[in-house]
Amino acid sequence: MPYRSIVLVKQVPDTRSIRGEVMTADGTMNRAALPAILNPEDLNALEMALQVRDQYGGTVTIITMGPPQAATVLREALARGADKVILLSDRKFAGADTQATSYTLKCAIARVGEFDLVFCGRQAIDGDTAQVGPQVAQKLGLPQITYAESIVSLEAGEIIVQRAFDLGTEVVKCKLPCLLTVVDSANRPRPASARRRIRNKLAAIPSEIPALLAQWPEFGDPAALQSYLQKNGLAIPVWTAADLAADEALLGLGGSPTQVHKVSYVVLEAAESKEIPATPEGIQALIDELVQEYILG
Ligand SMILES: Cc1cc2nc3c(=O)[nH]c(=O)nc-3n(C[C@H](O)[C@H](O)[C@H](O)COP(=O)(O)OP(=O)(O)OC[C@H]3O[C@@H](n4cnc5c(N)ncnc54)[C@H](O)[C@@H]3O)c2cc1C
Repeated sequence: MPYRSIVLVKQVPDTRSIRGEVMTADGTMNRAALPAILNPEDLNALEMALQVRDQYGGTVTIITMGPPQAATVLREALARGADKVILLSDRKFAGADTQATSYTLKCAIARVGEFDLVFCGRQAIDGDTAQVGPQVAQKLGLPQITYAESIVSLEAGEIIVQRAFDLGTEVVKCKLPCLLTVVDSANRPRPASARRRIRNKLAAIPSEIPALLAQWPEFGDPAALQSYLQKNGLAIPVWTAADLAADEALLGLGGSPTQVHKVSYVVLEAAESKEIPATPEGIQALIDELVQEYILG
C-alpha cells in the first residue's frame, strides 16, 4: 500500500561551524556569518520517508517555514529525492516561537489534506527545543512517536517503531496517521543525486525569477520563465498566511507567548577543567572518578 508522507524541514545556521568571529560581544550569534544548511536530523527524517516510499510507493512532500532563502533547503530536498516541496513564507510568520511555528505548520499540513505519516527531525540545531514536532502532532490531534530510530513494520493502518534512548530502546505501535520525530542514529541520509540536482537547478519561488532570468536570459522574460517552471514542475509554491486559512492572531510574534528573558554566554573557566594523561592509568583513574561521582553506572 502506498503511503503519503509529509516531512517538516528547517533551514538552520550551521552551528557546528561556530568560530570566534561568529559570536558577538553580547553573547548572541551573528547568523549571517554561518552557512545555512538543512537541519541535520531533518535529513534523517527525509531519509526515513524516502525509504517508506522506496518500499511501499507513495509520495514525499516537504514543508518548510522560513524566509525566501529557505527555498535553498527545498531544492536540496528535491535533489535528495522528495516529490513536492512547499515554502511557507510571509512577514506575518516572523518572530514566531515554537507555538506559532507549530500552528503555522499545522495549518499547512491541513491544507495539504490527506496524509498517512508526518516526519520531523527530533530537534533543530539552532532553536534546540525539540518542541515543534510534538506541538504539531498535538495541534493536528495525531498520535506521535518521538525519538524514532527505525520502522519495524508498517501495515494495515498501523506502524511499529523502535525508539532510541541513551540507555536502550523501546518498541511501540500506533495507528496511522501519526507523526514521528526522528533521531540521527536512524539512518545514513542518501546524498543528493547529480541527475536530480541538475533537474531541479531551476526550481524556484517567484521572487527568485529575476535572478534566474539574469543567469538564463534565453528564457526571454519573467512570464515565459515562470510558465516554463510551471509546466516542468519546477515552480516552488509559496504559501502565505492568506493561503492557510489561519487565525492571524496565532501567527508570528503576536501569536508567540514565549519571551526571551535573558541570554547568557557560558564560558568554561580553566578551573573547571582537568588534564587527563593519555595513558591506560590516566583513563582508568578518570573512569574510577566518574563511577565514584555516579556519572557512570
Ligand atoms: C519570542 C521568540 C521569537 C523568535 N523569533 C524568531 C525569528 O524572528 N526568526 C527565527 O528564525 N526564529 C525565531 N525564534 C526561534 C523560533 O521560535 C524557533 O526557531 C522555531 O520555533 C523552531 O523551534 P526549534 O528551533 O527549537 O525547533 P525544534 O522544536 O527543535 O525542531 C524540531 C523539528 O521541527 C521541525 N521544524 C522546526 N522548525 C521548523 C520550520 N520553521 N519549518 C519546518 N519544520 C520545522 C523540524 O523537523 C525540526 O527538526 C523565536 C523564538 C522566540 C522564543
